[in-house]
Amino acid sequence: MTNKIKKIAVFTSGGDSPGMNAAIRSVVRTCAFLKLECVAIYRGYQGMIDGDFKNMDARSVNNIINKGGTVLKSARCEDFRTKEGRQKAYDQLRANNIDAFVVIGGNGSFAGAQLFNEEFDFPVMGIPGTIDNDIIGTSFTIGFDTAINTVVEAIDKIRDTASSHNRLFFVEVMGRDVGHIALNAGVGAGAEEILIPEQNLGLERLLDSLKRSKKSGKSSSIVIVAEGDKIGKNVFQLKEYVEEHLPIYDVRVSVLGHMQRGGNPTCFDRVLASRMGVRAVEALIEGKTNYMVGVRDTKLVLVPISEAIKEHTKINTELIKVSDIMTT
Ligand code: ATP
Repeated sequence: MTNKIKKIAVFTSGGDSPGMNAAIRSVVRTCAFLKLECVAIYRGYQGMIDGDFKNMDARSVNNIINKGGTVLKSARCEDFRTKEGRQKAYDQLRANNIDAFVVIGGNGSFAGAQLFNEEFDFPVMGIPGTIDNDIIGTSFTIGFDTAINTVVEAIDKIRDTASSHNRLFFVEVMGRDVGHIALNAGVGAGAEEILIPEQNLGLERLLDSLKRSKKSGKSSSIVIVAEGDKIGKNVFQLKEYVEEHLPIYDVRVSVLGHMQRGGNPTCFDRVLASRMGVRAVEALIEGKTNYMVGVRDTKLVLVPISEAIKEHTKINTELIKVSDIMTT
């Protein structure tokens, strides 16, 4: 144990995700518990450069564990990508006697933190907050569980109307580079097909599957399409294509959009965020730096940020198999 760290900053960066507030609360309360000073930075790296700081105590984070989004606001910051911008950020941190920071965000936010650590030898710790679940080294990111539950709830509702009118619905969900939301929510909601960026099923297979589905007596169908699906057509083009080639179907499109990011975090995300916040502060005062707190097999782990940002997590092929079997 070292006693070097007396004041820790916490902020959210990149896209917001449900559960970020629970993570902020956890970092602030852990600091209070350990008698460390804690400072919140508003608007991510932009707020760091601008000195948009606020001293926090245990009561500053009352009643936020249940709220979606982030009370500290999030931002994308081009200045932080420049050496001058990072120098300004460092000067602000030093002027406020801040010894370390905890960044809650995704791959980009971690890449920035790693660079900052290397340039200024400044202690940094990451907490994975993104709905995409695309960060290597952790089975779950904060916000993913809430997002897939939101998507499942929406699809359940769409299914009600789909089955009342014998319709085929294409439902677009978030996921430009990875299909974790599509695959998990698709299996959970009983989708007939799931189109993800990691696989190109091809249009023929999609048509075959829809024909089979009709033949087998299904009255309605739901196809989940991740934004980055590899077939190369967007949901509206898919609708036109299927209507042209399978006129038996009355096709509709639903783009879920930003509602997938919002909402109160699930209990799973709140608990995960609370655990990760505690571990992040503990790790910093143990003298560790440049790590992300992850969870594997229910245990918290520290993953070097360099590992975490190397690439996106791979799709779960076992779940693809389950999905294929379930659509028989
Ligand atoms: P999400 O997964 O939701 O997109 P993210 O953390 O990956 O979240 P980004 O927009 O990629 O979001 O990154 C957030 C911020 O981190 C950027 O606006 C920028 O300020 C900083 N950042 C990203 N990459 C770098 C980099 N290579 N060097 C310095 N700063 C970076």
